[in-house]
Amino acid sequence: MPATTFEYHVPTTVQEAISLLSQYGGEAKLLAGGHSLIPIMNLRLAQPKALIDLGKIPGLVGIREDGGTIVIGAMTTHWMIESSALLKEKVPILPEAAAVIGDVQVRNRGTIGGSLAHADPAGDFPGVAVALDMQLKAVGPKGERTLKAREFFVDILTTALQPDEILTEIRVPAFAARTGSAYEKFPNPASRYAIVGAAAVVTVDGNGVCQKAAIGLNGVTGKPVAAAGVEQALTGKRLNDQTIQEASAKAADGLEPLGDIFASAPYRAHLARVYTKRALARASGRV
Ligand SMILES: Cc1cc2nc3c(=O)[nH]c(=O)nc-3n(C[C@H](O)[C@H](O)[C@H](O)COP(=O)(O)OP(=O)(O)OC[C@H]3O[C@@H](n4cnc5c(N)ncnc54)[C@H](O)[C@@H]3O)c2cc1C
Repeated sequence: MPATTFEYHVPTTVQEAISLLSQYGGEAKLLAGGHSLIPIMNLRLAQPKALIDLGKIPGLVGIREDGGTIVIGAMTTHWMIESSALLKEKVPILPEAAAVIGDVQVRNRGTIGGSLAHADPAGDFPGVAVALDMQLKAVGPKGERTLKAREFFVDILTTALQPDEILTEIRVPAFAARTGSAYEKFPNPASRYAIVGAAAVVTVDGNGVCQKAAIGLNGVTGKPVAAAGVEQALTGKRLNDQTIQEASAKAADGLEPLGDIFASAPYRAHLARVYTKRALARASGRV
């Protein structure tokens, strides 16, 4: 089914895009890579009066280092992240996760900003965003603000962004010394979307004792979540098969997993434990 008709705007500044959003009073949608928005428009689950294409606004694409922080423009594609030498060195979990998104066509068009703003529970970057506790810069008519990933995701396809705000930039600290990370997902065999994904980042001290563990889970509940029980169980412990196994058993504690035609709620809880364990085992091996 084709999408309903809409007006199409191509602003060349963020401010112009914000004015257009305000003008349509919540009836317009921003267009990034279009790989989530266009399918839902064709299904008529979204029928915006206008599309505001972000593709011609300079400064929204790119990956750079600013002091110890990596800054990624919202319109940076999955492929740019997957192939970035800077990210492979400084925050390697991002290229690793980007490489398992959909297929080449999806990665060539889809953007990190679109993926985070869309907040699909089956998306890969939201879980990684929680593990990295990314800082997300939003710009709107009242100015700019920075949201932490753990407060950005609200529910299925819902974020803390206001309808007239644009996500412009993502900031992530470069990994500290003795840090390892890994992203593991159980993919839907047809779409490659994550049924469950687990992102793990661990930092140890000189004696191999875990100083910090961060686990982000996507696909388990309506929004990406931190596996707080696992993080607490590992902090202060030496990372080995036994401590990882014991901690991973807590991955679904306190969560109310989704159940659908792809995976029941108990199965998703099981996958959360298994994939957390796998991600932690690989992350600790990479420290
Ligand atoms: C066949 C197929 C397979 C896929 N498989 C996967 C997969 O395995 N894993 C995965 O994670 N994803 C997958 N995707 C989704 C893909 O990653 C999308 O690119 C992504 O979810 C959305 O990014 P986009 O740039 O295409 O955003 P768009 O589709 O253009 O926009 C998505 C939503 O975000 C809003 N938006 C976009 N940019 C901004 C911004 N800067 N500020 C505020 N709001 C914004 C839009 O208004 C819209 O509501 C798949 C898609 C397809 C078609």
